[in-house]
Amino acid sequence: MQRKDCFVLKGNIIYAREDRTLAEQSEGYVVCEDGICAGVFDGIPEQYKNFPVTDYGDALIVPGMTDLHVHAPQYTFRGLGMDLELLDWLAAHTFPEEARYGELSYAKQAYPYFVEELRTSCTTRACVFATLHGEATVELMDELEASGLVSYVGKVNMDRNGGVNLCEESAEASAAATRDWLSAVKGRYAHTTPILTPRFTPCCSDELMRLLAGVQRETGLRVQSHLSENPSEIAWVKELVPEASCYGDAYALFDMLGSPDTPAVMAHCVYSDDAELALLKAHGTYIAHCPESNLNVSSGIAPVGKFLAKGLHVGLGSDVAGGSTLSMLRAMTLAVQVSKMYWRLVDNTVRPLTFADAFYLATLGGGRYFGKVGSFLPGYEFDALAVDDSSVKSMRRLSVTERAERMAYQECACRLVGKYVRGRKLV
Ligand SMILES: [Zn+2]
Repeated sequence: MQRKDCFVLKGNIIYAREDRTLAEQSEGYVVCEDGICAGVFDGIPEQYKNFPVTDYGDALIVPGMTDLHVHAPQYTFRGLGMDLELLDWLAAHTFPEEARYGELSYAKQAYPYFVEELRTSCTTRACVFATLHGEATVELMDELEASGLVSYVGKVNMDRNGGVNLCEESAEASAAATRDWLSAVKGRYAHTTPILTPRFTPCCSDELMRLLAGVQRETGLRVQSHLSENPSEIAWVKELVPEASCYGDAYALFDMLGSPDTPAVMAHCVYSDDAELALLKAHGTYIAHCPESNLNVSSGIAPVGKFLAKGLHVGLGSDVAGGSTLSMLRAMTLAVQVSKMYWRLVDNTVRPLTFADAFYLATLGGGRYFGKVGSFLPGYEFDALAVDDSSVKSMRRLSVTERAERMAYQECACRLVGKYVRGRKLV
């Protein structure tokens, strides 16, 4: 009997291995068996001969990409206010826009734009911030579930330093709203998982952090937040939580930094020093490196080469709307570019990223947060993209790896012609 998610894709295949090297197979076959990758082959092995084959011709076939950090409600104003610094940008653009999601009708109007672009992008998995509004967050989760993408989604918590109409009344009210949201989504989805989302320390009182840690212990849910993004933010956290040894410790003190079994995602870590990085490593934290956002809101350059050298978990984030685009290809190229500037301008002992590193970060590095995801090694969940790069003219014949690099830098000339998540076809 033919199983539902069994098939073969044919094309020019490239993927990252766990040691961050790339493997390529021109005119190869990648096999999906019940949603799981059975491997990459130069011909179809006997046992898969009856599986249907989709021939993508000369297209590239790459693993799906993971956006480890994105704000769905901010999609509406992406590319605006990009001449401001973080805290001014939050006050001028982010908070007023997020306040609008208090009206469910606004969320129903706005979220489909975000979800549809994400569905037709290179992203197959994402860690998503919603707003502090429970109903609107359920709406976003319903739409993400219907899209076929796999995601973690968080109702944001904030009980201090919010904007007009964008602050919960008290720590108790914020925690109660989180419990209401969690009971509304309990058992509702196959591909969408709630994640606790204290916005960042400046917006969450000690009491709120304590209450959320209680929710975490009861539910076993993961946590996502922001960490050491910007010097003025870090100075503020020092005043707000003076007993913390570093910003990361301001989460750890309240049991909100996760553990290797229940890892947290922390976005940015631009200014994390060795002590903070050691703390993240001990907790098994995933760092979402968001190079475009770090440039746009004048945060700085995260030492991503150092994260990798220390063996930390790292993936890439678009951080829309600190980032202007959901494109993970753009995140890849910018990750290489900013790492070169870090090496040139900040510390020439930290080696810049190679293209292979950046490809790894966008696929397997972030994919790991979701389990065995982000590669075509046997046993990985089958997330795949077929990309037609035939409009990118070339005088000489390029290797598959060279074509993948050019695809990232010339993404506007490339077209997504196929997309699979857990073996299900989305595009
Ligand atoms: Zn963010």
